[in-house]
Amino acid sequence: MVTRQLAERANQATHPDPASAHERAWAAASAVCDPEIPVLTIADLGVLRDVQANGDRAVVTITPTYSGCPAMDAIRDDVILALTHAGFADVEVRTVLAPAWTTDWMSEAGKRKLERFGIAPPTGRRAAGPVRLGISVRCPHCGSLNTREVSHFGSTSCKALYECRACLEPFDHFKVH
Ligand SMILES: [Zn+2]
Repeated sequence: MVTRQLAERANQATHPDPASAHERAWAAASAVCDPEIPVLTIADLGVLRDVQANGDRAVVTITPTYSGCPAMDAIRDDVILALTHAGFADVEVRTVLAPAWTTDWMSEAGKRKLERFGIAPPTGRRAAGPVRLGISVRCPHCGSLNTREVSHFGSTSCKALYECRACLEPFDHFKVH
């Protein structure tokens, strides 16, 4: 019995099954954090689109949050490093620009993490037409909806700077786009 298990294990080592290679590659890639918002992984953000793994080769597809986002070079390097540590000798990172990333791809867990980090998450869905829906942005500090936009561009162009009229704290709001 023990001998057979050992033989099976040895067999698995020489012929790794493609499903487990894919799981390892996905686990490694999805744990990579966004350099600008380190509480969010690229999977939380929806930046991670696809992972293919075959033997020691892995191909990871990412879509930047916006074109020319300077964080993407860091994300690409981190993905290669994570996959190399997970045992993939040949790692390719593909950047796909279409369809364009939208905040709709951000996971609900990601939005909750963002709020705990002090950034108001994107509210609602991207409007289908040119009309912007006036949805109130909730203060991540006190939960008040009595907030106002101070500047459409906050610490990065993905975010707007808001101010809470209730607790008077400023905060970033991750814009819907
Ligand atoms: Zn507040």
